[in-house]
Amino acid sequence: MTNLTDLGVKAIRDGVASGAFSAVEVAEAFNANVAAASALNAFIVTTPDHALEAAKQADEARAAGKPAGLMAGVPIGMKDLFATLGVQTTAASHILEGFTPQYESTVSQKLWDAGAGMLGKLNLDQFAMGSSNETSYFGNVISPWRRNDGGNAALAPGGSSGGSSAAIAARLCPAATGTDTGGSIRQPAAFTGIAGIKPTYGRCSRWGIVAFASSLDQAGPMARSVEDCAIMLEAMAGFDPKDSTSLDMPVPAWSTSLNADLRGKKVGIPREYRMDGTDEEILKSWDHGIAWLKDAGAEVVEISLPHTKYALPAYYIVAPAEASSNLARYDGVRYGLRDLPDGAGLQDMYAATRAAGFGDEVKRRILIGTYVLSAGFYDAYYTQAMKVRTLIRRDFDAAFEKCDVILAPTTPTASFPLGDKVDDPLAMYLNDVFSVPASLAGLPAMSVPCGLNKDGLPLGLQLIGNVFDEQGVLNAGLAIEQRAGFTAAPERWW
Ligand code: GLN
Repeated sequence: MTNLTDLGVKAIRDGVASGAFSAVEVAEAFNANVAAASALNAFIVTTPDHALEAAKQADEARAAGKPAGLMAGVPIGMKDLFATLGVQTTAASHILEGFTPQYESTVSQKLWDAGAGMLGKLNLDQFAMGSSNETSYFGNVISPWRRNDGGNAALAPGGSSGGSSAAIAARLCPAATGTDTGGSIRQPAAFTGIAGIKPTYGRCSRWGIVAFASSLDQAGPMARSVEDCAIMLEAMAGFDPKDSTSLDMPVPAWSTSLNADLRGKKVGIPREYRMDGTDEEILKSWDHGIAWLKDAGAEVVEISLPHTKYALPAYYIVAPAEASSNLARYDGVRYGLRDLPDGAGLQDMYAATRAAGFGDEVKRRILIGTYVLSAGFYDAYYTQAMKVRTLIRRDFDAAFEKCDVILAPTTPTASFPLGDKVDDPLAMYLNDVFSVPASLAGLPAMSVPCGLNKDGLPLGLQLIGNVFDEQGVLNAGLAIEQRAGFTAAPERWW
């Protein structure tokens, strides 16, 4: 008998539909894996009953001969940035500890409507700010991967969607939601040997997702295969009148239109992404990717994205600026933490609540954001960064005149030991150097596992597409997946 927890989204859905096993059996198997993996700290809360209830409904619907949803019988993990009705939602921050939403986010509701169930709320970097999961108030997630040198160093699962990536790699769930503001789906996917796609800005509704930087935030799926990502993205995407930046476009049938034959397609290789400080093995994996896409029939062309080197500094102005504005709402008045020292007035309460409730990285971003938006510095920083953002978008517009999809590394290095970069924010921010340009331009981008490095740790390749061309990204991702033949899984130590 196959181990149910080794199955992905499609295999579970189709197995439930054919009666090979029941959705309840699947939910029970994943609930058991989740319960046995507390050492990974991937979940902030677990919701085994939610998963079981959805599974029962999927089994009953099948028995009654009702049409099955895209995710029927598939239990998933939910990043704890999505508001879930009646289930604590914290953004991994003390300031929201105990907050139980009275509403469901649009994306999570769509997933439940498609027949999925929830195994629990996944840990993340606090307010999705970070690249290693170490900014979580609830303690960092530990990657299920270990180096093959016999050392036991605990490694970063990536961030901010590190609970999602660790849980999927460790077979605690077949798929999970992620969000990506500057790389938070792609970088953790690369670090843990799984796939993840950030769609075009506006594809997935932001309604009910705790806001970090609203002009960049996008939800997307994380799973172990390109096809599973395509299925789940179809369930998550769609116009939502409750999000003013939601795309009013039909959701394409990405999963059934997958096609890894790239004949007639051009793949762009951006010259400026050959950066100092990038690991040799990452550069080698990039060359493999080029060869694989050629093998799939694509023509490979060199392209130039001349403003790439300004993307990271621009991102670390725009994102904190928006965060400082979005996070002004946490004031101890309406919900979440309230710290009211004896005899304190309103201002003291705001200050005490925010001082106690936000972690150091969140405070750093609020301070930077407030500074770059202040009257004397607005033009020098914020306006300048927005101009750079336009130039970056134009770079991509010009590049997509010459190619259909862009291939690049996802990250400059493989996963690193927890603690290594925690005291050096700049070193941490450099993780995002290859992922933020697509975020600033609002483009769909995906990470696909492409192999292991000499230490036995996963590496990922990134595919960036033109706006609305998730299909092109998924197709090129599939071509890589088929040739990389990545089947490695972490050895269980937890
Ligand atoms: N690591 C980046 C940051 O810290 C990206 C985070 C994200 O995409 N949510 O801002």
